[in-house]
Amino acid sequence: MSSIISRTVVLKSRPDGVPTADNFAIRETTLPDLEGNQVLIKNRFMSVDPYMRGRMRAGKSYAAPFATGEVMNGGAVGEIVKSCNPNWPVGDVVLHMNGWREYHISSGIGLTRVDESIAPMQAFLGVAGMPGQTAYFGLLRVGEPKSHETVLVSAAAGAVGGMVCQIAKIKGCRVVGSVGSDAKAQWLLDEAGVDDVVNYRQESDLTAAVAAKCPKGVDVYFENVGGAHLDAALANMNLFGRIPCCGMISQYNNQGPAAGPSNMTLIVGKRLKLQGFIVSDFAEETDDFYRDFQQWREAGLIKWQESVLPGIERAPEAFVGLFTGSNQGKMLVELNV
Ligand code: NDP
Repeated sequence: MSSIISRTVVLKSRPDGVPTADNFAIRETTLPDLEGNQVLIKNRFMSVDPYMRGRMRAGKSYAAPFATGEVMNGGAVGEIVKSCNPNWPVGDVVLHMNGWREYHISSGIGLTRVDESIAPMQAFLGVAGMPGQTAYFGLLRVGEPKSHETVLVSAAAGAVGGMVCQIAKIKGCRVVGSVGSDAKAQWLLDEAGVDDVVNYRQESDLTAAVAAKCPKGVDVYFENVGGAHLDAALANMNLFGRIPCCGMISQYNNQGPAAGPSNMTLIVGKRLKLQGFIVSDFAEETDDFYRDFQQWREAGLIKWQESVLPGIERAPEAFVGLFTGSNQGKMLVELNV
């Protein structure tokens, strides 16, 4: 046994509705010595993501459920601090799927080397990683926006949404973002360069609010939220509009069947295309993403924000914050601070 103690986060119980801190427990383990070709990774940042809510249910989602009483997992970046593997020397910074813990022992399988000349390491959990790729492929491959079209984005100041807005601007679109706070709206206008914003929490009639901000209708609605947002988007879509269905976070904590949008029949007459997608559908095309990301970044066209909570004990709070909207940009937890 080594003398290193690693704290981890365990799923103590499955949430009923919105998750609370009581659904999680912090556990300490003493790490074993390295064997064979193993390396020891000291995690520096871990990601909390909305899709993890689906994994907290016992039933099937698009990723396997977390087991209760077991350490959770998810995206993390860390530094190799001990190595018995010549392919993975001490000092390398790596991206991997064993977050929710301070340290991880790996055989090297499933590690991706992080190139910090592209972006700071934690950005590989956000704008330069899975959420950035989700925005890129969802908007460009599924939404297929054309110059001068109107793109409406929900959860627009989040990890995915913020990037969608900026890529749509790069492609010459008129962009309107929907968010839940004035601070988020201001960031979108001042930094991300969107054309207009809706603070949905201040609107009693979201359909009318979207109509006012999108006088020529909506050609692409990037769906992150579902529920009333989908209803409002459908009502404002133009003929042959596209709706890349990325996520529906307003539905993730439902305890029973939810009311659907009231106006689904509009899909027919307006000839709309709604298509769900998962970022991994585009795993073969990540070179395209990094080529464009680097070019746009160097041209100063990509900005991002991070909400970083320090210490693994704050990981449950960070996760729950995704559902209350406490994050501006990518929600992260800094580990081993
Ligand atoms: P965000 O950084 O956008 O954080 C979540 C945000 O969602 C909150 O800040 C909040 O913003 C908004 N939100 C939460 N609850 C509600 C609600 N009830 N009604 C309206 N808005 C709400 O998260 P991500 O960028 O990581 O994820 C955004 C979406 O993309 C999610 O639906 C997620 O599941 C999906 N996703 C899908 C992937 C795929 O492969 N298909 C991959 C990654 C993400 P606000 O304050 O503005 O309300």
